[in-house]
Amino acid sequence: MDFPAIAYRTYQQWKNHSSMSAFFFNVLRNLQSIKNPITKTRKFHQIINENIDSIFEDTTVTRSVSCKIGCSGCCHTPVSVTNEEAQLLAHRVNSGLEISTKNLERQALLGNSSASYYSLSFQNRKCVFLSEAGACTVYEDRPAVCRTNFVVGNAKQCDTSDGKEKPVRLLTTTKADIAIIAGYKSASSSGLLPYMLYKELNKKQNSNQSVLVMRKDSFTEK
Ligand code: SF4
Repeated sequence: MDFPAIAYRTYQQWKNHSSMSAFFFNVLRNLQSIKNPITKTRKFHQIINENIDSIFEDTTVTRSVSCKIGCSGCCHTPVSVTNEEAQLLAHRVNSGLEISTKNLERQALLGNSSASYYSLSFQNRKCVFLSEAGACTVYEDRPAVCRTNFVVGNAKQCDTSDGKEKPVRLLTTTKADIAIIAGYKSASSSGLLPYMLYKELNKKQNSNQSVLVMRKDSFTEK
């Protein structure tokens, strides 16, 4: 199982702290009890949202965060998802949300390696759910890691157009990070968004459903 690096660091730091450990196991048990992947993922996201919203009750936090609508540097970096999050995103695509299948394929064929991801040009690294206007087209269903990335300080550091990630100062989101690790531990697998989504879209779930079928060099609608 691959864990998102920032959340995992937080988990390692806090896992032996009694209240955080209790919170972790509470979230883990809660998510493990839900069998439907879509329901489970939405519950996972709700838990993260609650723990982020409580941080933003402090107005000084709101003022210190540099992220703005339309700035999307983090949407050009490798994003992790659980298998169940990939199923939710595939459900959105299969329900009619349009994405660039060409871009998805290009990214997915690099596999699960973040290092390989940076071999793509900045434009081709763009998340398939990022609109031309710089908005997330799956905002309500965006992955857990997209919910906890808040930059404090200089947002110019988020720019990876030169192919390099720079150190950025992130808002401390301890409980949300711990919930992310509980979510990943309760998941069947995890990996990079394009790779996991591509795999999911290629599973023929239902003969009446429109699915994308992987061919050697392209996606075709079937
Ligand atoms: S899912 Fe949305 S927020 Fe997350 S990387 Fe893609 S466009 Fe950005």
